[in-house]
Amino acid sequence: MAYRIPPALSPAAETAAGGSAETPALGTPALGTSDRAGLRPPDGLVPQAAARRRARVSSLRRAAGAAVEAGRLLWWTSCFALRWALDRVVHPGRPDPRLRLAALLRGYLLRMGPLYMKAGQVLGTQSGLLSSAAAGEFRTFFSELPPMPEAELRKTMDRGLPVPVTAAFESFDWQPVAVGSVAQVHRAVLKGGTDVAVKVVKSGVRQRLDAGTRALKALLAVAHALYPPLRRYDLPGHFAELRPLLAGQCDMRQEAARQNDVAWNFRDHPFLHVPRTYDDLCTSDVLVMEYVDGVPGMNPSRAGHSRSSLARRLQDVFYSMVFFHGRFHVDPHPGNILFRPDGQIVLLDFGLVGTLSADDKWNLSAFYYACIRGQWETATERFVRTFVANPEVLLPRHEEYAEGLAAILRRHFQAETSRWSTMTFFDEATRLLYGYGARASTRFSLLSLSLLTGEGFVTQTDPDINLYRNARRFTDLFSPYMSDEVRERFEHEIGGLSPRSLAARNDAARYLVAPTHLDRYGLPSAFPLVVTKASGARIHDLDGNEYIDLSCGYGPHILGYGHPGTVQAIHEAAARGSVNALGNPAELRLAELISQAFDTDTKVILGNSGTEAVQMALRMARAYTGRQRVAKFEGHYHGFSDQSLVSSLFRYSGDVRCPNPVANSAGMQRTLVEETLVLQYGDPGSLDRIAAHAKTLACVILEPMPVTTAAFDRDFLRQLRDVCARENILVIYDEVITGFRVHFGGAQHLAGVRPDLTCLGKIIGGGLPCGAVAGRPDVIDIARTTGDPYVDIETRAFVGGTMSGNSITAAAGAAVLAHLKSHPGLYDELQRKTEWLSQNLTAHAAAGGIPCKVTAAHSIFSITFDHATPQLIRDRLTGSNFKANLALSYYMRKHGVYVPELHTMMLSAAHTTEDLQQVSHAFARSIEEMNEDGFFTT
Ligand code: PLP
Repeated sequence: MAYRIPPALSPAAETAAGGSAETPALGTPALGTSDRAGLRPPDGLVPQAAARRRARVSSLRRAAGAAVEAGRLLWWTSCFALRWALDRVVHPGRPDPRLRLAALLRGYLLRMGPLYMKAGQVLGTQSGLLSSAAAGEFRTFFSELPPMPEAELRKTMDRGLPVPVTAAFESFDWQPVAVGSVAQVHRAVLKGGTDVAVKVVKSGVRQRLDAGTRALKALLAVAHALYPPLRRYDLPGHFAELRPLLAGQCDMRQEAARQNDVAWNFRDHPFLHVPRTYDDLCTSDVLVMEYVDGVPGMNPSRAGHSRSSLARRLQDVFYSMVFFHGRFHVDPHPGNILFRPDGQIVLLDFGLVGTLSADDKWNLSAFYYACIRGQWETATERFVRTFVANPEVLLPRHEEYAEGLAAILRRHFQAETSRWSTMTFFDEATRLLYGYGARASTRFSLLSLSLLTGEGFVTQTDPDINLYRNARRFTDLFSPYMSDEVRERFEHEIGGLSPRSLAARNDAARYLVAPTHLDRYGLPSAFPLVVTKASGARIHDLDGNEYIDLSCGYGPHILGYGHPGTVQAIHEAAARGSVNALGNPAELRLAELISQAFDTDTKVILGNSGTEAVQMALRMARAYTGRQRVAKFEGHYHGFSDQSLVSSLFRYSGDVRCPNPVANSAGMQRTLVEETLVLQYGDPGSLDRIAAHAKTLACVILEPMPVTTAAFDRDFLRQLRDVCARENILVIYDEVITGFRVHFGGAQHLAGVRPDLTCLGKIIGGGLPCGAVAGRPDVIDIARTTGDPYVDIETRAFVGGTMSGNSITAAAGAAVLAHLKSHPGLYDELQRKTEWLSQNLTAHAAAGGIPCKVTAAHSIFSITFDHATPQLIRDRLTGSNFKANLALSYYMRKHGVYVPELHTMMLSAAHTTEDLQQVSHAFARSIEEMNEDGFFTT
């Protein structure tokens, strides 16, 4: 299985601020990335003096262009202001002065060229800001832009296509079907008969944009310097964020890459389509893409589909891009959207696409989460942290501004939600903060522009839409937050089913951190089960309810609860006195069985949990290699020790291919977090990063078959093995879950790749606390004494504790492993059951039209309610219907099945065919009921 990481997200291709590193300098004909790059002589062959002269001439030319453009800007702005002032004097009583203003502004922007036309397009969506007639003035903008003369077009096509027009197309219509500020679109038919749309950059636009942006940059800098009240708006800063993107608009090859990126993010989406591109024919001047028919966005009434549904879908699409993908269309105006009669929405024109980092998305979500829950103080603090560039200036008057800001948030998120506009609330909040000397961060300029345009367009599509209510519906679906109404319903239903469990939950809060260890952190279980008895595949709660269990206690119970052989072993070991801190036969037997599962010379160290096993392995790796740093993979969970929790569960940071280490718990040692190199599973770039850090890396630890995907990438594992062998870095497989579960020899047996050390836990304790490290004898022996305490203290790793290898745990574990060893057919049987159940669950969801993905292999299952199949763990966390996952757990209980909330499900050998049929039936009923209760409404 190979992972696909969107290429445009690679650090090489993209800067953090959203601009593309490949963006050519403004005004340079964008040849660097085009087919014509080959025509340039190699650098060394260009005589240096000539090159310098050429560079000087070109920069003089650009400066002159910018000066002319600045002159034009000043001249036409003065004319516009004068005309407007005169108009007010001559016609003081006009009924709709904004309409006249719009007409003047429109003429002005058209004259000013492509940079300013964008502003007109945005204004066309703002019927809240302007009167609807005035906004209409701008809406015609798109239809009235002049195309380039045909002779120019022909020249551009000859120059721009990699092959002659006649060789590429069966026919080409030289009359454009749409003309924008930067490019125009033509219809054509490819050789072979496929209809395509061809987008061609208008001649001279690059130069105009270059000169325009330079002029604007200079004017903003001057205004910033000369007029102090303007400084708080940091206009040069905002413009700096926009500028690289404006340039990137003129390179069609870059645009095709962005288009493919967005298409990838929306793959399998139920109602959003992005036309595919024909990359062989795309160059810096020309973009060839699939032709898609539809009604232009400005005419929703002609779409043949309900306007309210289209508007809701549009808003969902815009929010998905921002909050899930972090790649958003900056310019979602009606000219860039088509509606189709079946309610499909087609997104066009990827000239401007903004990027949000993982941290930006996290901060935005955290802010909205607090607002939704009405936690104004937290929301205020998060607003400042996210959107203010200089928060320190606010500190002296904290209480005063916090009160004002909370009042604004409360009004927008609670009192006046029917008039929702992200921009209006944002404007008010930032204006308040300006009063205290704060500056809005420029990182979100593009996002503001996008939401301004997008929400304006949504309202234009359905003037009656309640934007806020729809936003809440959207966020409710995709966050674990339960509204009071939903929570009360579950309290009522689960309270009816298992009142004693709920009473125990409430009682336990007095003396235990939580009634089960689940109800603690991040995404707590609101309705924990309190189980009195478990047997085979069944558990019984305090109220006497019986459930088929799909948790397997998070993994250990592969033979089911209370397996007779295990129970007997525990009884006997207890009867013989529970021996610990002394050698005992059970310990020897368990170690021998573990060793036999791997290479013949494998040695073992026993501990008390998976977390301990990982801690032991990391220390041994440091001791063995004499190096300090550890590399781990994003989203791989290795227990709760400090280093294991780096970028492991909830929070990720930095670029997809180059993640930043981030603490997933308070109280973690900062230095350990910093000493961790975080990698992306399946990404060949990770191998390069390992090599680059080889001198400081003791080991690379990973789940070879991450449980969230229940799949492994054999090629990647092999390459990782090779690079680490070459660089003398230890490879540690964490098989705490997969060890003895997917095969007697673990995932490494299935993949056919051997690590240096393997961490084990869960199954090897037979249901009692246990952990182990198994591996190469020379590495394991780093934990063995040399016989010289003075040498030991400096060169040996101290691992192990009082209960390590205790006789009861070891006897239980040995009984389970012996059973597994003597019943190898059990693994095939588990795999057959897994396939059967996974196919059935998938079929039920498909029959109900519910977006649902079941990932399953070798007894390990995940269900996500999502139209897409996210491959990266960080993508799984966004865009999947969390609440449905939580709710599924509660609905299934009503049908006699226990599904762990937000945790991987597992099967055991004790699950019978009838059990699985009951699970399948319970799932079908549950999703049907959930559907009726609105959990999947889009
Ligand atoms: N490693 C992996 C892959 C795990 O899934 C877990 C726990 O779920 C651990 C380590 C930690 O094991 P334990 O919970 O026994 O400490």
